Amino acid sequence: MKCIKCSFEGDKYLIYVCDGCAVTQCKECGGFTASEEKCFALSKRKVILFCSKFREETGTIIDLMQRNRKLKQEIEKLKEIVTNFQENSKKHDEILKNVDKSNIEKKNFIEKLENQISELQ
Ligand SMILES: [Zn+2]
Ligand SMILES: [Zn+2]
Repeated sequence: MKCIKCSFEGDKYLIYVCDGCAVTQCKECGGFTASEEKCFALSKRKVILFCSKFREETGTIIDLMQRNRKLKQEIEKLKEIVTNFQENSKKHDEILKNVDKSNIEKKNFIEKLENQISELQ
C-alpha cells in the first residue's frame, strides 16, 4: 500500500484507508494519533477512523449547518417584525383615510350651512 500524499509505501500497519474520504494515507499525512495507528490493521475493528482533513471538512459542514439554522431563526423573526409592521401601517392608513373622510364630511356640512345662511340673508 502507498500513501497518496507523500508516496510512502508500507503495509496495513503503516498505511490506512480513511473511513470518511477513502484516501489511502500514512499516519502522518492522515493526522492519525498513535492509538489510532494501532487500530489500522485490526480486521474486526469497531472504531471508525477519519483522517484530519475529513474531520476538518465535516467540522466545517457541521459549523455551517448550525450557522444556517441560526440564520433561518433570525429570518423568521425578521419576517414577524415585517408582518407586524405591515399590519400596523395598514391600520394607520385606515385611520388616516377615516380622518380624511370625516374632514371632507365636515367641510361639506360647513359648506351646506354657509349656503343656507347666505340664502337666508
Ligand atoms: Zn503520507
Ligand atoms: Zn479522510
